[in-house]
Amino acid sequence: MKKTDIKNFVQTLKNTYPDATCSLDFKTPFQLVVAVMLSAQCTDERVNKTTPALFERCKTIQDFADIDLQDLEQIIHPCGFYKNKAKNIKLCAKQVLENFDGKVPQTMKELLTLAGVGRKSANVILLEAFGIANGIAVDTHAKRVSNRIGLSSEKDPEKIEQDLLKTFPKEYLKDINHLFVWHGRKCCTSRNPHCENCKVKTYCNFYSSSKK
Ligand code: SF4
Repeated sequence: MKKTDIKNFVQTLKNTYPDATCSLDFKTPFQLVVAVMLSAQCTDERVNKTTPALFERCKTIQDFADIDLQDLEQIIHPCGFYKNKAKNIKLCAKQVLENFDGKVPQTMKELLTLAGVGRKSANVILLEAFGIANGIAVDTHAKRVSNRIGLSSEKDPEKIEQDLLKTFPKEYLKDINHLFVWHGRKCCTSRNPHCENCKVKTYCNFYSSSKK
């Protein structure tokens, strides 16, 4: 994409999804860490139905470290993979308390030392909890949108992120993080994407090749 195309492309998506933001509910950085962990292989909607009871029970990071593992598993059960997620949440809470003085760290390098936090989660945490947009969280929606439009031919999310970072200047990263997820959910759906109604179809390889 040319520089002017990039600007128009992002602006078109912004006009289409003016309310695009993170859909996970949280009040503190550590609550976001937990919500992001729970959202793996689970919808944000389900996570948001599960976290109120969890955050009521665990009010501090120490509470997350101390909660009985089986109690935690029971509360987060609806989010799936609950055994692994519960183990990671408790360990992550201990790591934040012991290694970071009880404060969620604000660098990619440090976040990646926490149990259950990978690069995608770290990008979400940096952006949503601290307003730091140095990367792009490539989830299943961002991956699909990037591949179809032709912004990346890679399958690995980290490689897709690198391709996106080469295309989009830093000032667009915050928006791109939200817009690709929203576009993937609402228009560029996994099955039967709504191409005819898509506002960015003129930039899309998938669309142009379907017309040949
Ligand atoms: S034209 Fe179709 S495939 Fe391309 S971005 Fe839009 S919805 Fe997705």
